[in-house]
Amino acid sequence: MTYPPCAGRHELFDSTSPEDHATAAALCARCPIVDKCRDLLAEAKAMHGYNHLFGPRGTWAGELLAPAVPSVRGGCGTLKGYEKHRRAGEKPCDLCREEWNAYRRRRHARKQAAPCGTAAGEKRHRRAGEKPCAECLRAQALARQQRVERVVA
Ligand code: SF4
Ligand SMILES: [Zn+2]
Ligand SMILES: [Zn+2]
Repeated sequence: MTYPPCAGRHELFDSTSPEDHATAAALCARCPIVDKCRDLLAEAKAMHGYNHLFGPRGTWAGELLAPAVPSVRGGCGTLKGYEKHRRAGEKPCDLCREEWNAYRRRRHARKQAAPCGTAAGEKRHRRAGEKPCAECLRAQALARQQRVERVVA
């Protein structure tokens, strides 16, 4: 079994300094599993919505993952920052857009876990500060009625 060159070299590969990154990236370039490593990184990014503010740090498959400096203005990389851009009629910067996309992915995942037409869906609406939809209200009323029936039975 041969190990990839990053095995046991956490300090070098977790570092975000330009010198360490250059050294690590040169090792990745000679790594026998660099293609697989790149695929895994792409998958992880898609699945967890990594942006420059959170997620892994350091060199992965020759790529430096590092916190970007929010240079546009304070508040970039947050949903508030995204809204500020929109209100100002600007195109949101990359950091803000990524945060917005990550937020939408999280919202989508929550929706799938608690679909409309269920009591859990009704709770999801309320937690999000929304008015529950008709389907969810019906499901919730039905669940309450069933609880009452169990108590009186
Ligand atoms: S390509 Fe991936 S597995 Fe290979 S050395 Fe770089 S980080 Fe390690
Ligand atoms: Zn921004
Ligand atoms: Zn609903």
